[in-house]
Amino acid sequence: MDTTVTAWGTWDCTRCGQKDITGRDKRCPSCGDPREQHELDAMRPPDDFDGAAIASPDELALAHDGPDWSCRYCGSNNRASSPTCDSCGGGRDGQPPPKPAEAPAPARASWLTRRRRWLLGLLLAFVALVTWCTLDHELAGKVVGLHWTHTTTLQRWQDVDRGDWKTSVHERAEVPPRAGRGEVAGVAITACREKHHHDESYACGTENYQATESYSCGSTQSCSTRSNGNGSFSRTCTSVPRTCTRSVTRTRTRYCSRPIYATWCDYVTQDWVPARSQVVSGDGHDGLRFAEIATSGDRERTVQDSRYTVVFAYGDDGETYARELPRSEYDGWKDGEPVLVSVDRLHGPTGVRRPSDPAE
Ligand SMILES: [Zn+2]
Ligand SMILES: [Zn+2]
Repeated sequence: MDTTVTAWGTWDCTRCGQKDITGRDKRCPSCGDPREQHELDAMRPPDDFDGAAIASPDELALAHDGPDWSCRYCGSNNRASSPTCDSCGGGRDGQPPPKPAEAPAPARASWLTRRRRWLLGLLLAFVALVTWCTLDHELAGKVVGLHWTHTTTLQRWQDVDRGDWKTSVHERAEVPPRAGRGEVAGVAITACREKHHHDESYACGTENYQATESYSCGSTQSCSTRSNGNGSFSRTCTSVPRTCTRSVTRTRTRYCSRPIYATWCDYVTQDWVPARSQVVSGDGHDGLRFAEIATSGDRERTVQDSRYTVVFAYGDDGETYARELPRSEYDGWKDGEPVLVSVDRLHGPTGVRRPSDPAE
């Protein structure tokens, strides 16, 4: 609920120095000087608002008459309802028109426009730069290198130790390779044991904990004072519900953790294990071969791995671009052959084609 109380403020006469004149007076009781706007502006609300409250209906009407006006001729404060100045008789409607608003600064507007134009130019330059950087362009080049690498590895079929959870281990007999093929790895469990698998969370009773809760605890007064612009002040107080907090004990489910065990088994299986490798490498298209490694018995085999690289040089600085290619493409390239290399300015070369091939 709102309650409003109105009371006169107090002001000081700047001419004779008289202090604490009631706001009701528009003239200094000591020297008779009319109150001026700066004296009204410095008006103080009463210290004891309730004690100074205006009770008389006539005085209350004065206090609520509206803001005083200042005479343009003598500067005196006058009641809102007075059409003429009490001090000099000057008319209220004789006031000069309000000062024209400050002329808008054209220099500022043009400055803003200039700045906007400059920002737009910067943005366009940035877009152009990004486009230039990401656009592919092609540079003339040629094949400057053809490299091949052949690796032969001898592998041996042999026992290896492994381990897994028992549910994933299924025993089976080994089928050994014959002449290096047709093998099936066996699985033979050697030992099993319980091993920690994971932790499980479970409800294990209840526990108390402290929580904070809000509750309504009466009300407080919130007051604001405003000047009526005529020597009086009005104070409005509102009753605001108050909220307090308190600590309460609550109960919740308690969770505990326990380890879950499972059976882990070590087992023996077989796999092709690399024993040794031999590399043969060279350039061009002649003399490509793999190293021969002799195998002995059914449990040995050789496997071959090959890599083919073509190196292209392009541009004025002779930058190079190496590509690993399948054998069929490698065989098609000739040393010194002219090419076109696609270059992305940010990421470097991205592709290569023969001048006679259509562009991608
Ligand atoms: Zn005075
Ligand atoms: Zn006047």
